[in-house]
Amino acid sequence: MFLTISTTGTPERPATDLGFLLHKHPDKAQAFSTSHGTAHVFYPEASPERCTAALLLEVDPVALVRRSRGKGRGGAPDSALAQYVNDRPYAASSLLAVAMGTVFRSALRGVCAARPGLADRPLPLRIEIPALPARGGADLVRALFGPLGWTSVDAEPVALDERFPGWGDSRYVRLVLEGELRLADALRHLYVLLPVLDDAKHYWVTTDEVDKLLRAGEGWLADHPEHKLITSRYLSRRWGLTRQAMERLELVRLAEADDLDVEDVDNAVDDTTDTEDRPVPLAEQRREAILRALHAAGAGTVLDLGCGQGQLVQALLQDVRFTRVVGVDVSVRALTVAARRLRLERMGERQAARVKLIQGSLAYTDKRLQGYDAAVLSEVVEHLDLPRLPALEYAVFGSARPATVIVTTPNVEYNVRWETLPAGHVRHGDHRFEWTREEFRDWARGVGERHGYGVEFVPVGPDDPEVGPPTQMAVFARVATARQEKAA
Ligand code: SAH
Repeated sequence: MFLTISTTGTPERPATDLGFLLHKHPDKAQAFSTSHGTAHVFYPEASPERCTAALLLEVDPVALVRRSRGKGRGGAPDSALAQYVNDRPYAASSLLAVAMGTVFRSALRGVCAARPGLADRPLPLRIEIPALPARGGADLVRALFGPLGWTSVDAEPVALDERFPGWGDSRYVRLVLEGELRLADALRHLYVLLPVLDDAKHYWVTTDEVDKLLRAGEGWLADHPEHKLITSRYLSRRWGLTRQAMERLELVRLAEADDLDVEDVDNAVDDTTDTEDRPVPLAEQRREAILRALHAAGAGTVLDLGCGQGQLVQALLQDVRFTRVVGVDVSVRALTVAARRLRLERMGERQAARVKLIQGSLAYTDKRLQGYDAAVLSEVVEHLDLPRLPALEYAVFGSARPATVIVTTPNVEYNVRWETLPAGHVRHGDHRFEWTREEFRDWARGVGERHGYGVEFVPVGPDDPEVGPPTQMAVFARVATARQEKAA
C-alpha cells in the first residue's frame, strides 16, 4: 500500500521542509517495523522546488492472519487461501492508517520541534493514493474529503482490468487531494477517513478508539456533514461506542456555542460569567446530579438498578457516606465489566463488605432489594418495552419500596438539538421509547399516586428554553403513612 505527500517551495521556504515536518530526513530511506509488516518512508524527489515523501507499507500477510484471527476481515470463511491472498498488501486500508499513526506520530500531533511555527503554516499539498478501497465509491470519497478545505478532490474509479473494460470498475479509487492545508490536518483527515472508506477494520475496536477518533477529528469532525457516517464506520458500527462519540461531539459543539455566548455576555455585562475549560460529558453530569439528590435525601444504602458497567457504583463507593451499594443488572456481561472496573477481586475486606453486584431482572419482584434507603434507575426505564413498565413499577415502588427513588431518562424533545440524530430517531439502538417532558411527568406522577410517593423533577444538562434539558430526572420521596408516623 502506497501513499505520497508532495509539496512545492521557494528558495526561502524550501519544499524539503517537509522532512522536518514528517521527522524523516529527505536523504534517507527508512524502514520501521509495525505490527503487520514493514513501513518504508523515502523521498522519490527532494529539491527546494518540489519534495515528495512516500509511505509504503509492506504487509506480512501471514502475520496479519495470525494477529487478526477471528477479528474483522481475515478472508472469506469459505476459502482458507483468501486469508493469505487478498487485497491487504496493496490497498490503502486501516493498516495504512495505523502505520501512519506510528511513523508520522509527531506530524499528526502537529509538533515540529526543529522548526517551531512550521507546523502551524498551511502548505501547498498534493496527496496521492493509487489504490484506495472505497465502500460507497468515488461519490462518497468526494463527500468525505470535499468539506475539509481541499481545493481539489479527484477520485477516479479504478477499472477491474484495463484490458477488459466490460468488466467494469473495481471497488478502488485513485485519489488525488490538492490544497493549502496544515500537514497535521491533512494527515488527520487520512488517518480517520482511510479506515472509514475501507470499512473493514483489521482489529477489534475498543473504547480508546473513541478517544483516537476525537483527537484526530479535532477541529473538523464535529461540523462535518457526514460526521455520523464517519463516526459509525470508524467505530465499526459498534452502537455503544458510536453513541458515546456522538455525545462527545455534541458537547464539543455546545462548548463552541457556549464560548460564543460567553463572549457576547462578557461584552454586555461585567465579568460574572464562569467559563469551564472542559465540557463535562452528559453521563458525568447525570452521575453528579444523582449523587446530589442522594445526599439531599440523606441516603446511606443505595441500589443501582440497571447498573450497567458500574460507573455509578464506582462513584458511590468513593464517597464514605454511602455505606452499602448494590448494583443490579440483567446482563451478566455488563456485570462482568463492572466487577473488573471495581477490581472486586482485589478489594480489601472492608471495602468489599460495602458493595455487591447481583444479577436480576427489574421486571420481577425480588426480596433481595428490600430494606434500602434509595434506588437509582439511571437511563434504564427506556430499555424496557412499555408493556413491561408496570411490572418494573411494582417491583421497585411496590415491593422494594425504598424511601427515595431516582429515575433518569432521555428527554426526546431535546433530540432536535443533537445535530447528529436524524429526525424521529432515538438516541440509542436499544431504547424502546423516549419520552417528552410531559409524558415522563405523567408517568412519574401516576407512579407517585399509585404507590405513595411525592415527586420532583430536576433538569440535567443544559436546560434549553424551548425543548428542555437532554436528560430528565425525577426524584421520588416516599410519603409516610399515618400508621408509620404513629410508629415513629
Ligand atoms: N445505569 C447505567 C446503565 C444504563 S443502560 C447508566 O446510567 O449508565 C441500561 C441498563 O439496564 C443495561 O445495563 C441493561 O442491561 C439494564 N437492563 C435493561 N433491562 C433490564 C431489566 N429488565 N432488569 C435489569 N436490568 C435491565
